[in-house]
Amino acid sequence: MNKSKAQRHGKALSEAKIQRRREVQSAYYYRNRQLTSSFLNRQAEYEYFANTGKKICKACGEAKEPAEFYTDNKAADKLTRDCKECRLDISLSNYYKRKENR
Ligand SMILES: [Zn+2]
Repeated sequence: MNKSKAQRHGKALSEAKIQRRREVQSAYYYRNRQLTSSFLNRQAEYEYFANTGKKICKACGEAKEPAEFYTDNKAADKLTRDCKECRLDISLSNYYKRKENR
């Protein structure tokens, strides 16, 4: 009798935990989708690229030729999000940040 009660209690707890985890996860994904690249943004980017042949850099926001981006095999268009100049700036600033912290 006691054992079954405990089992029922444990089951209820784990179900509540799973529910909570689901809520947190869905809220996280929803926020992420809203803040970063949404489907509409991506669609607009593809259309812009198809019309002008240029890609917009995520860091400086300028439209540049595909040759100004490094290749990224993981990306859908095989190009990085940032242009070469911005990549250099980012990597240099990270390098100096790390150097200062040492
Ligand atoms: Zn850039």
